[in-house]
Amino acid sequence: MKVMKFGGTSVGKPERMFQVRELISRDNEPTIVVLSALSGTTNTLVAIGDAMSAGDKVKADSLIDQLHVHYKQFLADLLKKEEVRTKAEKIIQEHFDFLRIILRISFNDALNKDILAQGELMSTKMFSCYLEEMGHSHLLLPALDFMSIDANDEPQVADIRSKLTKILDQHNGIQTFITQGYICRNARGEVDNLKRGGSDYSASLIAAAIHASVCEIWTDIDGMHNNDPRVVATSRPVEHLSFDEAAELAYFGAKILHPASIWPAQQYKIPVKLLNTMQPEAKGTVILEHADSDGVKAVAAKDGIVMVKIKSSRMLLAYGFLRKIFEVFEKYRTPIDMITTSEVAVSVTIDNTTHLDAISKELSPLGELEIISNQTIIAVVGNRLTQQKGLLPHLFASLADVPVNMVSFGGSLHNISILVPTEHKNTVLKSLNKGIFGLD
Ligand code: ASP
Ligand code: MG
Repeated sequence: MKVMKFGGTSVGKPERMFQVRELISRDNEPTIVVLSALSGTTNTLVAIGDAMSAGDKVKADSLIDQLHVHYKQFLADLLKKEEVRTKAEKIIQEHFDFLRIILRISFNDALNKDILAQGELMSTKMFSCYLEEMGHSHLLLPALDFMSIDANDEPQVADIRSKLTKILDQHNGIQTFITQGYICRNARGEVDNLKRGGSDYSASLIAAAIHASVCEIWTDIDGMHNNDPRVVATSRPVEHLSFDEAAELAYFGAKILHPASIWPAQQYKIPVKLLNTMQPEAKGTVILEHADSDGVKAVAAKDGIVMVKIKSSRMLLAYGFLRKIFEVFEKYRTPIDMITTSEVAVSVTIDNTTHLDAISKELSPLGELEIISNQTIIAVVGNRLTQQKGLLPHLFASLADVPVNMVSFGGSLHNISILVPTEHKNTVLKSLNKGIFGLD
């Protein structure tokens, strides 16, 4: 059995849904098809939730109306047979009725999660109606029946497996299953989600749970690129990556794959393929357990980084200093990305600044603080990087004209991270393209 996940743009137009059906019909292997919401929908649902929490019901109401118009038109273009279209319109109407009822009750976080779930619920039901129209036999599997997270928001593969296998066992012989990405139930049994972009994570969790032969992630780009395609025109897809390399790249900026979606596939050794719906024959990127070669595979950039520097002469020859610093970040559940130390100072980077004020307050007694915003992490990713002769001279030569605030080397064999002010990001990505890949 395999898993095929299609992102928002891959289902965002009726003709894309036609194409998805073609892609899922190409072989006879039983498939679980995981769908995102139509592109733009989750953003609108977030805006509806925001308007409600700000008490602006008029705005929420008008956003709901606009979205409904979009869905009605979508159905008119998607479905030709009148009876199927009437059925689909009724289904969609129910979801919009639900959104309008929510408008009238007092808003809270749990309700917001219900709002956010509507996108995937609708896209899967619409696609199911389209398959029905085409006589493509299939079964719609509600993700809320098997996808769950615990009290720490962590999905439990074993739980998901036992629920999902039970359901699949009851439906032996079915070739095509359709389910929602992103949505799940939390420890309280309420509707919840795996955070923005979480459909990839759903796909990987499902693939791990059923020991799928492959987890295919279909998007609108032809794989993970060796540089940021928005900045560097000559970037090209990387054909093979190991899970470790892909995890670094996904985390440090390659937007194509949700970073958390690597570990379930990695743990159960399920190959992951990143493929392009618009160019199905393109090779894309295959992610497997082992790297196929050594050296640099790609560079990626992550913006929105804040550097926190703590300087103290008391750190000299002291132990326990780092622990005190890390405890503050732990207390505020703020992950640290990069760390560098000297004998009298420690610098760390974070990208979640929600608790930065509180963190600063608690760090101040430990030393002199400096907070530097608008930074970008440039990650150079590959295999056995610490053993690549000549890599560092090329790397540093490429950085000759920019100020570098931090360098982290040796933390893993797969990553060298450099922190630069965001205004210099494009220059660095371009000069690395030349310096490391020899491309203009
Ligand atoms: N629809 C959700 C989002 O836009 C999940 C996803 O597409 O992966 O974040
Ligand atoms: Mg996505």
